[in-house]
Amino acid sequence: MSKIVNKGTVYLIGAGPGDPGLMTLKGRDLIAQADCLVYDALASPAMLAWLKPGCVKIYVGKRAGDHALPQDEINALLVKCASQYDCTVRLKGGDPYVFGRGGEEAMALQAAGVRFEVVPGVSSAIAGPAYAGIPVTHRDCCTQFTVFTGHEGAHKAESTLDIPGIAAAKGTKVMLMGMSRLRETMNALVEAGQGADVPAAAVQWAATGRQKSVTATVGTLADAVADAGISSPAVVVIGEVVALAPMLDWRSKLPLYGKRVVVTRTREQASELSSKLEQLGADVIELPTIRIADPTDKRDFAESVVDAPHYDWLIFSSPNGVRRFFQAFFAVYEDIREIGGARIAAVGPGTAAELKKYGLMVDVMPQKAVAEELIAEFDRKGDEFGGVANVTMLWVHGEQARRVIYDELMKRQAIVDECVAYNTVPETEDTAGAQTRLREEGADIITFTSSSTVRQFMALNLPLPRGCRIASIGPVTTATLAEFGLKPDIEAEMHTIPSLVAAVQKLK
Ligand code: SAH
Repeated sequence: MSKIVNKGTVYLIGAGPGDPGLMTLKGRDLIAQADCLVYDALASPAMLAWLKPGCVKIYVGKRAGDHALPQDEINALLVKCASQYDCTVRLKGGDPYVFGRGGEEAMALQAAGVRFEVVPGVSSAIAGPAYAGIPVTHRDCCTQFTVFTGHEGAHKAESTLDIPGIAAAKGTKVMLMGMSRLRETMNALVEAGQGADVPAAAVQWAATGRQKSVTATVGTLADAVADAGISSPAVVVIGEVVALAPMLDWRSKLPLYGKRVVVTRTREQASELSSKLEQLGADVIELPTIRIADPTDKRDFAESVVDAPHYDWLIFSSPNGVRRFFQAFFAVYEDIREIGGARIAAVGPGTAAELKKYGLMVDVMPQKAVAEELIAEFDRKGDEFGGVANVTMLWVHGEQARRVIYDELMKRQAIVDECVAYNTVPETEDTAGAQTRLREEGADIITFTSSSTVRQFMALNLPLPRGCRIASIGPVTTATLAEFGLKPDIEAEMHTIPSLVAAVQKLK
């Protein structure tokens, strides 16, 4: 056997059943350190956001109409990664050693002299039932449980599945990978003595927004599954514990359970809205229509940031403007005090919250994040700071911003310069397959968080699914929708993400 020649360590990490919150802390820390990630279809795309910049991502799962990389090639790939990278993470759905072929990968690494560690994960065998209100054991009805696979490796000509043994086993039985042969397996179990009247359930996409489940009996499960349109990936549970589901099913009681909601913000900004909706049980499709890019005139932007400390006022029109401005600011200055004694205005609470991250409070801010409201607020509070006439102001905004702030302040004799901090461009990549999902599966609600998300969504030419309702973050976004002949079913009261989430709940 070869000696350890590889520099790196490979971590076989269980990703849990779907909800990124079910990843272990150790797993998450290692993902954040990874130089290379090898992953497949069952790992949540949200986990990719934990990677450090520059981490090499290698997908080895199934692609639409395509096969996954064969196991021996994955094994060889992991050995190769270990020779190139210090930290390779092999991420697998659920637990790596529960029907995950983690054992084979570990043996290949061991044989090649590669250091490896295993980080167990929450298996769908246990979490799947739990998310549908089914405890796999329960004091009154079982003292053991069995986990088995309904689909064996293709290399096995004859099934070695111990049907009589499983049929005779006491307690709860959980089947993974059993959907393609569900009817045959249930029939075979009944023939072998399994009670046909024993409660049984199938839970698909457990612990994700797409979760769906049915309960029936061993004898009727195949029909119930067909009626409900449930297919792989799903776990099947057999046993008296299934009868507890109506009482203990907490998930389907969540306010947005079963609702598919589209989030059109940029990838970087989507997570706050997405995670709030997911916590309420929604199936979120993140479909970023826009991306925040450098302004067309980068030199002009850089110069205006350098000059920023000379102004009496800094006016920020959006959280993106704040982020971009300070990225550029700290590339030049090291100390926040270099910003000087300028007063600060923000177009609304979201922008003010972003400023607060840099320890900056605002002097003027309307409750509603609309340019006209900011001007009204300047007029209202003018006496406190002696008005805006002959005062120098730097207005930080995106290329697409409306001109209201500039025009109105100029009318009031302020001396306004512009700092164009970013450009909003269409997001053309659809790496997570969100556009395809929207086309094929439709959606119940679509959210728009700015005028640009509306414009760019329309530019994508995707069909707005039938019956899909529209939630708008505020009046300006609503006006842009009107340009396209659309009227939102609801508008957020406060022009903030929490307020938009509240609006979506009302639509339900
Ligand atoms: N190692 C994984 C199992 C891999 S085998 C684990 O411990 O969970 C793949 C099978 O797992 C699927 O066919 C399905 O039966 C089950 N599975 C994985 N994730 C699931 C999910 N989110 N919902 C339902 N079943 C899931």
